[in-house]
Amino acid sequence: MTQWHFFVNLKGMKNELAKIYDSSLFEDSIYDKWEKSGFFNPDNLDLPESAPTYTIILPPPNITAKLHMGHSAMLAIEDLMVRYHRQNGYRALWLPGTDHAAIATQNMVEKKIMAETGKTRHDLGREAFLIEVDKYIREIQATILNQTRKMGASLDWSRLAFTLDEKRQEAVKKMFLDMYAEGVIYRGERIVNWCPRCQSTLADDEVEYKEQTAQLYTFKYSADFPIAISTTRPETKLGDTAVAVNPKDERYKQYIGQEIAAEFCGQPLKLKIIGDYKVEMDFGTGALGVTPAHSTVDWQMAEANNLEIVKVINEEGEIRDGFGGFTGLSSLAAREKIVAELKAAGLMIKEEEIVNNLSCCYRCGSVIEPLPSRQWFISVDKPLARLQGKSLKEAALAVATEDKIKFLPDRFGKRYRDWMENLHDWCISRQIWFGHSIPAWYKGEEVYVGKEAPEGEGWLPDNDTLDTWFSSGMWTFSTLGWPDNFQNGVKTGDLARFHPTQVLETGYEILTLWVSRMVMMSMFALGEVPFETVYLHGTILDKAGKKMSKSKGNGVDPLEVIAKYGADAVRLSLLMGATPGNDARYNEEKVESKRNFINKLWNISRFILSDLDEASLGTSVEVVPAAATLADRWILGELMATRRTVDAAIRNFEFSNAADDLYDFTWNKLADWYLEAAKIEKDKAPILIYILKNLLIMWHPFIPYVTEVIWSSFNDDLLMTQQWPALKETDKIPDGDKFKFICEAIAAIRNGRSENKIEPARKVKAVVVGTGASLLSEQAALICGLRTGVESVEISETAPIEAAIKVVIGKTEIYLLGAIDPEKEKIRLEKEKDNLLKLISGLSARLDNEEFVSRAPAAVVQVEKDKLARYQAELSNINEALRA
Ligand SMILES: [Zn+2]
Repeated sequence: MTQWHFFVNLKGMKNELAKIYDSSLFEDSIYDKWEKSGFFNPDNLDLPESAPTYTIILPPPNITAKLHMGHSAMLAIEDLMVRYHRQNGYRALWLPGTDHAAIATQNMVEKKIMAETGKTRHDLGREAFLIEVDKYIREIQATILNQTRKMGASLDWSRLAFTLDEKRQEAVKKMFLDMYAEGVIYRGERIVNWCPRCQSTLADDEVEYKEQTAQLYTFKYSADFPIAISTTRPETKLGDTAVAVNPKDERYKQYIGQEIAAEFCGQPLKLKIIGDYKVEMDFGTGALGVTPAHSTVDWQMAEANNLEIVKVINEEGEIRDGFGGFTGLSSLAAREKIVAELKAAGLMIKEEEIVNNLSCCYRCGSVIEPLPSRQWFISVDKPLARLQGKSLKEAALAVATEDKIKFLPDRFGKRYRDWMENLHDWCISRQIWFGHSIPAWYKGEEVYVGKEAPEGEGWLPDNDTLDTWFSSGMWTFSTLGWPDNFQNGVKTGDLARFHPTQVLETGYEILTLWVSRMVMMSMFALGEVPFETVYLHGTILDKAGKKMSKSKGNGVDPLEVIAKYGADAVRLSLLMGATPGNDARYNEEKVESKRNFINKLWNISRFILSDLDEASLGTSVEVVPAAATLADRWILGELMATRRTVDAAIRNFEFSNAADDLYDFTWNKLADWYLEAAKIEKDKAPILIYILKNLLIMWHPFIPYVTEVIWSSFNDDLLMTQQWPALKETDKIPDGDKFKFICEAIAAIRNGRSENKIEPARKVKAVVVGTGASLLSEQAALICGLRTGVESVEISETAPIEAAIKVVIGKTEIYLLGAIDPEKEKIRLEKEKDNLLKLISGLSARLDNEEFVSRAPAAVVQVEKDKLARYQAELSNINEALRA
């Protein structure tokens, strides 16, 4: 007997139930039981061949650090979707993995080694360094996988993948070769974003921009040069090969086409004057020094005008050889020297402060140097036969414009399209050691691309590695057996069964970095979308709405919170109140309140299971039990309605709404009303067990542990694979209006008592008048039994004359007799009588006054007469009450 077989003795013995659900006693053993069942793997599910598939590939967490609350939220959402579909007859696959995160991991390990030994990776050498990386990632990976299990994630561990494992290396190599063969991958010299610290190129979206104030210098290259230019980086002007002006500019147009020599700080320049309509005439001097080697825009001008390219800055961020006294200086030092020389020569015209954006490395914050470099690129504009003449960019755009991929929330569809439309060729080579190697070899200017090193002497391998997004871009299909499962354009095995996947659930911040690349890679390799829906979750912020981070110390370790409140409470707190695309705040009070709810569910179950016979346990979840009372009809109707709304909400990705509906049913309807009514009406076992089974099934995707524990206590099979009862469109929802009316009456009575400060112990008699009177009198047992303090319910044609509290529900009035202390009431009535007598005497005097009666308009006199009659009627009521 396992430790969670703790309650419900079916043979009639009194049950001993734990009063409070202690998650720490159950979670690990339940997870173990799930895993051992084999049902995380869809191949083991007992399903007909025709069963639809439902696939989510887990966005692989970077193996740079253990998981944080944001990952927990992601796991909660994805597990919910997968469990729901598994319970609905789908062949549900949720495939786990981790990402080697090339540059991020390398930087992390570099920092670690530096802190521990003071050595750089170059001190260690490539091989020793990679051994250190391997040690580091093994440790982190174990932590990540443990954290993932603790959240209750029903992932198919038999398909666990890593972006840099052997199978993924094979896939990446194949992809590279295929793309190279079709000319999509090419090698070329381009301006790249170079980080002198990381010694690597960065993708455009790996560059961060920081606003800064900078000096804008306006000067002439030399005294005899006819045009002045402005720049914030005078040191790069050592590599200028042209000056661009607007062809409409009267000041300069006579120079266009000329080549003018200049001596710039002792260095000879040959500057061609070119016309370009993009040059703004009113910015600076209206003339631009063109530096093809250190600016993307200038590089394009150089290509268009056939300009010479002079490299000034090297990979270390220093001035290259051949620039006299500037050679070897850092770019900053060179800038200062040039500014000083220009001033000394009287060439500096103006210095002013401007605000501009500084490009920085997203990994280390160093200033980016745009440098020309020979790199591997993916062409996004090359038309491809396999894509019916579309380029990668066009194919990836088409899937969004043709709604082949749905974005949630849909504003991100626009962001995706905007980004795609502005996409340039993707530089995929990185000058770092940790990552997928590039299958290329060089001998002089000869290049060989292939699976293995070429035959013959003297071939040197490419020392670079691939951009990390290259391998993670292939994640949906490299994990499903591509390329082995794709022969002659036909999918087989896992790839045939599970691709395209149904949902990609990930953070909106990697929409462009990752999601867009997955689309391009999948379109290229398979000609199909990688997923049907992209659900983008927001960021989990701290209580104050700030981003959680290690350095700020406001991060939360999911394992600690799970240890304190249980994984279910953590999951529910992250699911309720969360909507796609919006950031959400985390706070511990919320987790605590969800833990309290879980205890409520536990206690509800305890109550239902405490009084059961064996026959009721077999109650089917498919067949709605017969309703004997109004309460039965009502709760069965509410349950059916809840099933419908929960089902619809989950299918619409409105998980928070689904949880709200379930929560409302469980606490406000079932616990607060029906269970109370059941205690009075008795003999509800079949209905109660039917409701409990339904509830556990529906709550399972949200809070899988506690529901499985409760289920296991009276069932032999697993709740995890228990099918949701089919609800037919034609199933009529029973009418619960009459019970609802009784609940309203009870709530109104309770309210009336509390407003009038009636002591709880005081018993009252209810006299009911009006349309609902007979129903209330028929259901007197409920009204008396449900904490109203009502002893009896009596129907009356008219309102009773005694002092009473009156409550009204629609056209029904309820008078609570005996609620009020007769002595106090007498005093109150005497006071009111005095008041009325005064009013009556005043009015009577007025109406007796003949002058008033004759002069005032008849209508006014009538109003006064009516008033008097009303006062007199009230007085006689009070007199009667006083006599009573
Ligand atoms: Zn860097």
